[in-house]
Amino acid sequence: MVVLSTKNLHKMYGGRSVVAGVNFAVESGECVGLLGPNGAGKTTTLRLCLGLIEPDGGNISLLDKAVPQEARSARRRVGVVSQTDNLDPDFTVSENLLVYGRYFGFADSATSKRIPDLLEFAGLSQRANEKMQNLSGGLKRRLALARALINDPDLLFLDEPTNGLDPQARHLIWQRLRQLLNQKKTIVLTTHFMEEAERLCARVCIMDNGVIIASGPPRELINQCIEPQVVEIFGEGLESWMDQHGGKLAERYERAGESVFCYMHETEGIVASLLAYPTLRYLHRPANLEDVFLKLTGRELRD
Ligand code: ADP
Repeated sequence: MVVLSTKNLHKMYGGRSVVAGVNFAVESGECVGLLGPNGAGKTTTLRLCLGLIEPDGGNISLLDKAVPQEARSARRRVGVVSQTDNLDPDFTVSENLLVYGRYFGFADSATSKRIPDLLEFAGLSQRANEKMQNLSGGLKRRLALARALINDPDLLFLDEPTNGLDPQARHLIWQRLRQLLNQKKTIVLTTHFMEEAERLCARVCIMDNGVIIASGPPRELINQCIEPQVVEIFGEGLESWMDQHGGKLAERYERAGESVFCYMHETEGIVASLLAYPTLRYLHRPANLEDVFLKLTGRELRD
């Protein structure tokens, strides 16, 4: 069952198309990742899907409701973690959940019953009475996730859910999101962490300049778009190694800053050639989603 779909979605800002014909569909129970460099149009697409901004063209259906016309009613079954957490600085952890429940028209008594479970889920049970200014960025992010679950939503929109988190907090969020998927919730997330997308998402859509340029299961995209092996090389002597061997041994290579990324099927020749260059450092690894992302969107800085 499709829970979210967009057809030929368009949005302009200042005469510029920032969403330029996006078609995508999300099935119930799926985790779909929207990836793309800064400015690709990911957040705008999410905001359009939620009915928070008006499209300039196209159709959106969210949980069988037309958006933006019936967005308000569709959003009752949706949870959102946006990039800015909008937590109320004057309230405690519990009070933030209570107040958010009121937006959905829930009685405080009903929300209060759910709060212990939500805090437990977010690993915040010991922090119920903590004021916002005492919470680290990671704790706030976890509270934002707990808050997004206040209405027991069927579908979650997460805009960079682990941005700014340390590895420990990131792993906790991944584990929690997996738990939500096991409960048959549907998740649409944006992320800059390719490892996050590869771990969590059944399918990813790579966006650039307002359009989806590739989509599919991460493993399929890796198999289709890129050579299977990568050797990343950096350090003193790189130029001389490149002159002697680089161009000949790699099927394809990309330069980025002080590193060379060599892409190929067989790496034996290249690894053997590196033995003669003890000052060079290298990392030999299987190709991943980040390699696909960089091949499709380029290595130039965006902002
Ligand atoms: P992403 O989430 O992929 O980084 P966004 O959807 O936030 O990209 O932004 C896409 C483009 O639209 C950017 O160039 C951004 O500057 C522009 N943009 C987003 N929101 C607005 C706005 N409210 N007014 C004008 N331009 C905007």
